[in-house]
Amino acid sequence: MPWNTFCWAHSIEEIRGAALDYVSENTDVLERDTVIFPKFNRDKCIGCGRCSVSCADGGHQAIRMNEDRRPVLNGKKCVGCHLCVLVCPQRAISSSRKRIAKP
Ligand code: SF4
Ligand code: SF4
Repeated sequence: MPWNTFCWAHSIEEIRGAALDYVSENTDVLERDTVIFPKFNRDKCIGCGRCSVSCADGGHQAIRMNEDRRPVLNGKKCVGCHLCVLVCPQRAISSSRKRIAKP
């Protein structure tokens, strides 16, 4: 199975350094009271379900697929890890960029 089977990137170069803006010197500055929910673009979504499977594998079960095979977020379970964003082959999931108080 190719390394990027569950990742939107086509090459390592696309990923290298992508998280550098989020690196801090220590954990004292981590914001633990809010989460940033993923945002789904239903026009781009092909209904593969990878987001739902990865979220479940991560232990959160925050995404269910509806009867049209489109993801539906349960905000009470989402922790904002954005694993779903990484695995979407269509780049149909992005960060909402809106901080929400942790449920
Ligand atoms: S951000 Fe994490 S917890 Fe929230 S829906 Fe995506 S994979 Fe699940
Ligand atoms: S991973 Fe992307 S394309 Fe697949 S169901 Fe989720 S949002 Fe849709």
